Amino acid sequence: MVNKLFYTLGIWKRNPSLSNHLTFLLKSDAWSKEELLEYQFQKCKEFLEFAYTHSAFYQTTFDDYNFKPSEFKDLKQLKELPTISKMTLIRYNRLIHSKYPFKKKFQALTSGTTGESLAFHKNEEWDSQNRAAMFRGYSWYGVHPADKNGYLWGYNIDSKLALRIKWLDRLQNRFRIFSYCPEEIKNFAKNLKGAKYLHGYSSMIYEVAKLVNRSGLKIDHDLKMIKGTSEMVFDSYQEEVKAAFGLKILSEYGSAESGLIAFECPEGNMHIATEHVIVEEEDGEILVTNLLSKSFPIIRYRLGDIIELADKNFSCSCGRAHPVILNINGRVGVKIIGKTEEFPGRMIYNVIKNLSTEHGISLNYQARQHIQGIVDIYIEQTEDGSQYILEKELKKYFKNDIDFNLYYGKDLHNMEEKLNDFVTTIG
Ligand SMILES: [Zn+2]
Repeated sequence: MVNKLFYTLGIWKRNPSLSNHLTFLLKSDAWSKEELLEYQFQKCKEFLEFAYTHSAFYQTTFDDYNFKPSEFKDLKQLKELPTISKMTLIRYNRLIHSKYPFKKKFQALTSGTTGESLAFHKNEEWDSQNRAAMFRGYSWYGVHPADKNGYLWGYNIDSKLALRIKWLDRLQNRFRIFSYCPEEIKNFAKNLKGAKYLHGYSSMIYEVAKLVNRSGLKIDHDLKMIKGTSEMVFDSYQEEVKAAFGLKILSEYGSAESGLIAFECPEGNMHIATEHVIVEEEDGEILVTNLLSKSFPIIRYRLGDIIELADKNFSCSCGRAHPVILNINGRVGVKIIGKTEEFPGRMIYNVIKNLSTEHGISLNYQARQHIQGIVDIYIEQTEDGSQYILEKELKKYFKNDIDFNLYYGKDLHNMEEKLNDFVTTIG
């Protein structure tokens, strides 16, 4: 109770507009497709006019492309505008930032996997609306954000920082692991008593589940939701997590700059937050327009993921009319380099996935390529006679163009950062 009070006070101070936005989103959750699209169009028009008036970068861009936001009549017209990338956001950072005098702004910083970091301002409404969208997702599972929750983030935290973080966590009714030794994981698992949700990197959630299952630890938990972010979820993760907690890991999709794009519903479909973002698909690649991003407008942004959208007539049995992203199929431009051909980076994942659906063999792995035509696959499980099938499956897709070295019984996780399924230093 005390925690909920703290939480409410904290939110009231940091995100004063949040509760109004959440009330709205809980209502629009039940809207028809037509209502959603009409709202999205109005919001987009207003946003484009705002960007044109207050951001020097977009003023120049719109003029260059002879694009007039005042004449915006159809979402299709967005296609007249160029796309932007993370490089654009870094290079033209100052010019993209809008000149509008916001009452309150937050500093956001993201670091990409490729090294460059991006800093920008988030106005309070943007931040609050984005949080509201996340909390709406929680509500689908009967979770209140102030409920006790376990948090698994991949860093071994410095002890000086740890004290401050522990205090902040307490305010949010949150507990976490500070180092990934078995004893700590055990304590964390015991702490789950009374917790309503668990969130963080899927590979970390998997590690906790594994320990719970192997040690026979009996936890009378009351978890309603387990949320994974930032990583792909292997089938074997789901099996282990289900065995430990009786729930599967659900996915949340988005980034700091694009905002929350989609949240998985209890029927297992990732619904786009249509009220906040416009998702386009171009040659399989996702383009996002973040309608909340007034302080730092993000229009037709190449987030870098390959996605698969559900058919226009697809309807989810949960009843929500928000469009669905069926799959996120890896990163754009990541390639496996064979002796004579190139293959999409996601192909090994597909082979391993088939192995699970067709042969009932679940493997956790990481593939690494440092030399053309050779890929090392590190596998967590021990060899139990399935190597032959894996080799046969790999051959089916890659013929003899790639030599695979398979290493079984390997520890995959360094517990420092998220686990990539494919790491390459060439190409
Ligand atoms: Zn649904």
